[in-house]
Amino acid sequence: MSDVISFADAKLRQGDHMVRGTAADGMIRAIALTARQTVQTAHANHNTSPLVSAALGRLMMGGLMMGALFKSPDELITLEVRGDGPIGGLTVTANNQGQVKGFANHPNVWLPLNEKGKLDVGSGLGQGTLTVIRDTPGVMPYSSQTELVSGEIGDDLAAHFQLSDQIPTSVGVGVLVDTDTSIRQAGGFIVQLMPGYEPFLIDELERNLADVTSVTDMLERGMSPTGILTHILRDLDYQELEVMPAEFHCGCNTERASRAMLALGEEELRDMIAKGEPAEVHCHFCGRTHLLQPEELEDLLA
Ligand SMILES: [Zn+2]
Repeated sequence: MSDVISFADAKLRQGDHMVRGTAADGMIRAIALTARQTVQTAHANHNTSPLVSAALGRLMMGGLMMGALFKSPDELITLEVRGDGPIGGLTVTANNQGQVKGFANHPNVWLPLNEKGKLDVGSGLGQGTLTVIRDTPGVMPYSSQTELVSGEIGDDLAAHFQLSDQIPTSVGVGVLVDTDTSIRQAGGFIVQLMPGYEPFLIDELERNLADVTSVTDMLERGMSPTGILTHILRDLDYQELEVMPAEFHCGCNTERASRAMLALGEEELRDMIAKGEPAEVHCHFCGRTHLLQPEELEDLLA
């Protein structure tokens, strides 16, 4: 590895980032991340309550890691949770460049803590479904839907891998919200057995995972994503392959907003121009509002 790459990696490791690696001669693949700033941005953009910060943050981190496991650079992954709880639903889209965006149907839900003294994400989402949509330009999108297991997100993502892909998978995602509602810690991991794995690896992994209390505990103890995987995959010869960035990113802009306006039709647009007021286009994913001036609306019709 050249020094230039090492410096770039070292810089990446200072902020939100993911690490990807393998263990047990390639029979295990693993990814972990720290994403405090990413979840903080979602919290700030959508003014989420602590409960919704946790729910949305966990799903966003799941999306980031699943996106990063793809091989195709222009593939997108969308995770949709629909539930009968007060949050109603979550939508997250991630690419394989470490960019994610997402929103909750009801961002300001407050519930009492659960019996473990944790934010009650399971009750916030209730009973429902998780839909995973994989989208590559020019190819029919592929989607699969599973019932929510607990609504706590980590379990639900693990069930998706187990039921849709028949891959034994352990998923941990956690968000620790501070007393001022800002995000104190956020991180996660996915550990998967690859086809042809030796059965004894299941026991080894279960033994190693048994003393992992939670991702946020590990982060609070100062562990990095590399530290988390080194710990979970101890005695299994963990090899790190790649360090990647992670960030909240929404690609919306005025031009895309204009295209959304065009969908309203010419008559509606002429009406808005006649009123002489700017049109507002709200982006669900990042909470931004794009203002289009009457003259910009006229340009659309030109
Ligand atoms: Zn946006």
